[in-house]
Amino acid sequence: MSSLTVKIQDVFDEPACEGNRNKSPKTRKKGCSKPLTPGATAGGCAFDGAKVVLQPITDVAHLIHAPLACEGNSWDNRGAASSGPTLWRTSFTTDLTELDIVMGHSERKLFKAIREIKEGYTPAAIFVYATCVTAMIGDDIEAVCKRAAEKFAIPVVPVNAPGFAGSKNLGNKLAGEALLDYVIGTVEPDDPGPHDINIIGEFNLSGEFWLVKPLLDRLGIRVRACIPGDARYLQVASAHRARAAMMVCSTALINLARKMEERWDIPFFEGSFYGISATSEALRRIAELLVMKGADAELLNRTEAIVVEEEERAWKRLEVYRPRLEGKRVLLNTGGVKSWSVVQSLMEIGMEVVGTSVKKSTADDKERIKKILKDENHLYESIAPRELYSMLSEQKADIMLSGGRTQFIALKAKMPWLDINQERHHAYAGYDGMVQLARQIDLAIHNPIWAQVREPAPWEQAMITEEKLEKRTASASNFAGETAGDDC
Ligand code: SF4
Repeated sequence: MSSLTVKIQDVFDEPACEGNRNKSPKTRKKGCSKPLTPGATAGGCAFDGAKVVLQPITDVAHLIHAPLACEGNSWDNRGAASSGPTLWRTSFTTDLTELDIVMGHSERKLFKAIREIKEGYTPAAIFVYATCVTAMIGDDIEAVCKRAAEKFAIPVVPVNAPGFAGSKNLGNKLAGEALLDYVIGTVEPDDPGPHDINIIGEFNLSGEFWLVKPLLDRLGIRVRACIPGDARYLQVASAHRARAAMMVCSTALINLARKMEERWDIPFFEGSFYGISATSEALRRIAELLVMKGADAELLNRTEAIVVEEEERAWKRLEVYRPRLEGKRVLLNTGGVKSWSVVQSLMEIGMEVVGTSVKKSTADDKERIKKILKDENHLYESIAPRELYSMLSEQKADIMLSGGRTQFIALKAKMPWLDINQERHHAYAGYDGMVQLARQIDLAIHNPIWAQVREPAPWEQAMITEEKLEKRTASASNFAGETAGDDC
């Protein structure tokens, strides 16, 4: 069995995943990918998934060992933000041609590319991504990376998640494996402390983790590594010295959180920073875990004081939106942790959730939604675009919250829409993020454009007037005819 096959089997056999635990050993081996429905979009490949997870590590050069198209496929499709280095947004690829492949030059070209990057950009590390073509021609990227790391005295990390290996989600997990195999635990920090935590599966989209970090700073809690959002290579490499961890997006990196607990005794919990109560709950759990691992018990009181203060401030700021949003109906088409945490946060401000899709949610996520919504009929395994359109055009919701892919369905139905997925432009995490979410929903629902676009277009207006005139003329002539008949 190849090392990739062994890795995939290992990832499929994830004991921390409840869905996996409920499967028979035979079904477990097949993984979680469902056969594709003809006509449906397939989502990203495993390479894409690995790139999504690792690219936000900002001082690393991400080198794609492939023909040019793979980098084009995965490039910059998420809005992760960096507070410093910009190297991660520079595109590096070996740009293999047919000639390189036929002549067997690809490994040499990879080695040369690593040298060029090291000399031209002096990155903290270089991550080398395998892709379908380079995996199929049998390039040994592990060996090339090892040799290059020795020669150039820089960490060179192979990421073995070629596209054909499976889904984007599998790629997320294989990226976690690459971090476990080659990065985490390779650097000993000189300042470990009792208040160090890791945040796992937080991507810092639109810089939203920066709305949460100040709260942790005030509590004296240090984020040793946020993996991957706005991370630096050295932070990730020394993440094994954290005392506790919070896992934000369970479907992406559950294997990483579980294995870090096993290897380095770092307990973790799954939480969310979306919504007021979820944020408070997350802060409390972080404090509890740290105290359990030896931090001073006073941390619990400090946390409680900050929670009370921040909640009060947030509710005060939300007062202005509450009467404008109360009772408004939301259709939620997202996935993962957002499928329950956003539901909870919307209900907190008095909105009604008429439906939420749970396609990418774990069994735990689904259980949480059921508890919050108290009505299973609002859970949709997947909502077909046609169904979404009819729900919106029949005005069964006042707004749809989803990703960019479904925005045009809402716009076609002339209904308000707000992006809450990876390309969103606003940060919704933490207390301030909740206020921002309410503000953006309010702006979208009460935008005067909706009244205008729902009016008939000028040419439709002209047709309506013509039709009316025709009808009037017809009824007038009928009346004249009837009167004439009477005369006879
Ligand atoms: S890795 Fe494979 S599936 Fe993914 S973009 Fe490249 S060729 Fe396509």
